[in-house]
Amino acid sequence: MIIAVDGPLASGKGTIARALSQTFGLPYLDTGSLYRATALRVLDAGEDPTDEAAAVRAATSLDVTAIDEDRIRTAEVGVAASQVAKQQPVRDALFDVQRAFATQPGGAILDGRDIGTVICPDAEVKLFVTADPETRARRRQTELNAKGDPITFEQMLAQTLERDARDAQRSDAPMRKAEDATLLDTSSLSIDAAIAEAVRIVEKRQKA
Ligand code: C5P
Repeated sequence: MIIAVDGPLASGKGTIARALSQTFGLPYLDTGSLYRATALRVLDAGEDPTDEAAAVRAATSLDVTAIDEDRIRTAEVGVAASQVAKQQPVRDALFDVQRAFATQPGGAILDGRDIGTVICPDAEVKLFVTADPETRARRRQTELNAKGDPITFEQMLAQTLERDARDAQRSDAPMRKAEDATLLDTSSLSIDAAIAEAVRIVEKRQKA
């Protein structure tokens, strides 16, 4: 079984995908980490994430087994990730690794922006997880503040709206709900309630 979980920043998709991975015993890939790691390589080289040649060089030479989980989780890398992700040659360079992960024997769960539409249009279960922008900005601000990043709510909300717009409006693989995906709005759900609802959706699809 392949489970595709898409949705915008801080919608809860990562938490839900990790929980589903445990519940259903499926390996999990956070595809945003590939774009973040690509962006970090560009920044570390002192290059510009909007420079296509630099971004493609970083994506094609990325070692997916050596991603620095701490360093890719900053707000700066998040913004740069959405800039490299806008470029189709970067998406092409990261396609095979995602597709290979998805099609491993026994199935897998992947989260991102285009899993149900581009990477795994054939997924048995598709979820599109969302929440209102203020709720998402507050969640991400709390996470970043806890790590010592002093970002304010207003800055985080502006960044959330900017990244949403860039992800949803890009011409290649824009973030959108696949027609056959189930919408899960986590705005007023606790983490446990959101996970329980996601498990229920997967079980219902399995039975169908
Ligand atoms: O999910 P996360 O916020 O870590 O993703 C960082 C950025 O990577 C997103 O804003 C998006 O631009 C890009 N991304 C993408 N397609 C995916 C996963 C992430 O374009 N499947």
